[in-house]
Amino acid sequence: MKCPVCNSLMIVVEHERIELDYCVSCSGVWFDAEELELLLEAMQLEGTRLSLDNILTSPEAKSVEKKRDCPICGRKMKKVTIGHEPAVLIDACSWGDGLWLDSGEVGQLITQLPDRPSEKSDPQGRIISFLGEVFRVRD
Ligand SMILES: [Zn+2]
Ligand SMILES: [Zn+2]
Repeated sequence: MKCPVCNSLMIVVEHERIELDYCVSCSGVWFDAEELELLLEAMQLEGTRLSLDNILTSPEAKSVEKKRDCPICGRKMKKVTIGHEPAVLIDACSWGDGLWLDSGEVGQLITQLPDRPSEKSDPQGRIISFLGEVFRVRD
């Protein structure tokens, strides 16, 4: 699969059966819908309910960032914001293939996630520790 930003071939990084497509050139990461569900469950922050459905149906965010093509279906992805303080602008395939996060965006999201160091056995804990390892933003 090719990176929607720089067009390099992405590598698959795998950890505890969670697989992500990672671009070594620009450090962006692609979440397939399945991995995304896990991440979103992990992100049930106070006062927010995130789901793939409400990301896909949320209004397009105003942004000057260039639109990117979905690496799965090739159609233009839409810009949406998730999280808060600060909201993180990401790219989402409107047809539900998944989400793209630039490297800095992954770091911003992870800093918003609740601490769950002892819950590495659950899927949410696994994906957080996985992202932490891949992006080295925690500890
Ligand atoms: Zn790239
Ligand atoms: Zn798509």
